[in-house]
Amino acid sequence: MTDMAAREPWQWDEAEWRGRVNRVRAGRRLAPASWPDGKGFAVAISFDSDHETNELRDGGNSISRLSWGEYGARVGVPRILDLLKRHSVPASFYVPAVAALLHPDEQRRVVAEGHEIGLHGWIHERNSVLPEAAERDLMLRSADTIETVCGERAIGIRTPSWDFGPGTLRTIRDMGLAYDSSLMADEDCYELLLDGEECGVAELPVEWIRDDAPYFLMDRFGSARPHLAPADVFDIYRRELDAACDAGGLFQLTLHPHIIAARSRIWILDELLGHAAARGAWFATHRDVVAHARAAASGPGSSREKA
Ligand SMILES: [Zn+2]
Repeated sequence: MTDMAAREPWQWDEAEWRGRVNRVRAGRRLAPASWPDGKGFAVAISFDSDHETNELRDGGNSISRLSWGEYGARVGVPRILDLLKRHSVPASFYVPAVAALLHPDEQRRVVAEGHEIGLHGWIHERNSVLPEAAERDLMLRSADTIETVCGERAIGIRTPSWDFGPGTLRTIRDMGLAYDSSLMADEDCYELLLDGEECGVAELPVEWIRDDAPYFLMDRFGSARPHLAPADVFDIYRRELDAACDAGGLFQLTLHPHIIAARSRIWILDELLGHAAARGAWFATHRDVVAHARAAASGPGSSREKA
């Protein structure tokens, strides 16, 4: 830690605040002017299959909270996979290695049904407070574990809780991953800059607006309580999707099996996918969206202007 870091933020010199901002930054926008199959916009649906790891990560031993995660595996993922099959929609599932080891058959079914599995930490660790070497070790081990369980190597990562430590992007680059999906600097894919330089890793950006946890998650002993009705959440997602469609851009969504699969909520995804299809969406995994965006960006005059 530098002397500067020990000071209050209002005492930092320009090199300190500029250095913090520039560590990981958004570079070139990867916004294709067109999408495959003549479709007008892209829809990338994702599920973070945290299951029991949220409780384990906190060092907890609550049987009840573990069962909440177990619902995600036992009821949530099968219900979601049936829905995706009915709509013929491929999706991306980000799975902590420990969740994959607890539920290996689930991961194999996900892959067998044409979906993508991406990395999501070892035990949903709070990566940004770990020593860099420990974070790196967990990322490497999680990639090997997912490959062993699923039979194929992941090329994308969503960091646990969408957080980044100072060394996270360097490790992602060193691992040869094609993309990350944890940051929020745009609505289109973009190149990630590490210390100001392109590092070959693309970002497929997320947003808390397009997540289910902020609207529905509750904490029995804390202050977090669901504050919107399912119809209100559907309205937010639909407006995000319609605007992405109008722009010829990308609609990305992050859902959690133990949250969205409830009987009173799963219709949100059902109606949203129907609405997206009616508007002419290209449904693709995050992996395929990134591949198309990157390939299109290398062609002349292929980038869409930002509205
Ligand atoms: Zn997660």
